[in-house]
Amino acid sequence: MARKTYYDTETVFEQPSEELLQSGARETARRARARGQVLEPVVVRGRIIAHSWWGRAWCENLERYADYESRLERGKRYLRTGAVVDLKILPGKVTAKVQGRRKNPYKVEIRISPVNEERLDRIMEMCGSRIGDLDRLLKGDFPEEFKGSFLGEEGLFPTPREIAFGCSCPDWALMCKHVAAVLYGIAVRFDEDPLLFFRLRGIDVDRFVTVTLQNSAEQMLANADVDSPRILRFDGWEGLFGIL
Ligand SMILES: [Zn+2]
Repeated sequence: MARKTYYDTETVFEQPSEELLQSGARETARRARARGQVLEPVVVRGRIIAHSWWGRAWCENLERYADYESRLERGKRYLRTGAVVDLKILPGKVTAKVQGRRKNPYKVEIRISPVNEERLDRIMEMCGSRIGDLDRLLKGDFPEEFKGSFLGEEGLFPTPREIAFGCSCPDWALMCKHVAAVLYGIAVRFDEDPLLFFRLRGIDVDRFVTVTLQNSAEQMLANADVDSPRILRFDGWEGLFGIL
């Protein structure tokens, strides 16, 4: 049998075993601890990656990358195996480390464009009319009625052209399995803390809440204005009865 080279299709498509990835991930965690580094691994409990509706919606949004179907599947497998040994969500970007067949994990960076002001204003206006929902949101539960503000071209979820990514692995594909694993890993993080989503999109949560509350107060005043003539009319009737 001919000796296999890197370019043999069989070799290229051969995937590292779960055992290899897991022992590599453990070794990476041990070395990081020894150096005093803090890694934040993504842990998937069971088969399901995201349990919340917004976490699932994030995964569905990724599937808009139809060209990368096979990469996305491999990415899920990596994530479930525990290969995403570190994932940090920062304003506008995610930095992560993903264990592969090499000793050192690959470095992945995902950049997501901030939501433009106009789009954000519209979303805040919509949320302002749902003030009870805002309270739930701050407690870590996105009301499902917000779904409309996430999906679609004008939503909070990034469209494919608003995401840029890179990985230090030698895979030439635009989206490698490590990037795919991190994209799914973000869903796990959102499940745990939905406000991280605002952070990722460059939205200041305090400002979002303040402006939304202001919008809500303005709407309440506007409603009060509409009601006041009715109150006056009612007073008039009361007076009329007083005379009678
Ligand atoms: Zn990669």
